[in-house]
Amino acid sequence: MKKLMAANWKMFKTVSEALETAEELVRLCGDVPADREVLVIPPFTAMTAVAGAFEHAGSFFLGGQNFYPELEGAFTGEISPVMLKDACCSYALAGHSERRHVLGEDDATVGRKTAFGLEQGLSMILCVGELIEERRAGKVEEVLRRQLQVGLADVPRDVLPERLSVAYEPVWAIGTGEVAGPEEIVQAHDFVRSVLVEIFGVNGNEMRIQYGGSVKPGNASDIISLDNVDGVLVGGASLKADSFSQIVLAG
Ligand code: PGA
Repeated sequence: MKKLMAANWKMFKTVSEALETAEELVRLCGDVPADREVLVIPPFTAMTAVAGAFEHAGSFFLGGQNFYPELEGAFTGEISPVMLKDACCSYALAGHSERRHVLGEDDATVGRKTAFGLEQGLSMILCVGELIEERRAGKVEEVLRRQLQVGLADVPRDVLPERLSVAYEPVWAIGTGEVAGPEEIVQAHDFVRSVLVEIFGVNGNEMRIQYGGSVKPGNASDIISLDNVDGVLVGGASLKADSFSQIVLAG
């Protein structure tokens, strides 16, 4: 399985800034190593510009940060998976911690989005991860199990494994500079793997599990060489082509 090196640009970048970063990224990454894929997840407004920059670049994919789980309708402010696909997206996130904790999405909403996105032909990245209080209370596995079980409840059991990834992103490591330690990452990823196998049988072994939370050029190669780490989801360090290209090529 190829490692998925993903850049989540969150609510950053105008169209011209996004275009400039995307073009530089293609230039700096050169030929992406054969065992990797690059995914950029820009704000919606910059999607078309970034798609243009990636048009002739192999191994570069585009994703949406969010969508509403309906085909179309009177949902002011929302966009649908059909529109994401129309804008050249092949991936989308569901359940990013900022959507859960800043914008109030619950597990059931995340589950609806994950299943609906897959049904509409997107590959989905389900983000899971515990708060620091939950870790201190010894509840990491309980939280991950709940987020996975509810988040994947309506996903067909025979979904193609390459279309579903899980991103383990401990909330306390996102945007804080405080990366999880190798043991914490391996333990959590092993646990996620075991739950995926419980739910999907052997196919669960073929689904990617990415790590996210303060990934930087300096720690990327250590992180991606860990067991059961099949890629990364990068926020802050993905905003500059120079640092994200170092992460893509790390190792
Ligand atoms: P970070 O964000 O790399 O800035 O910690 C990760 C994420 O939010 O996906």
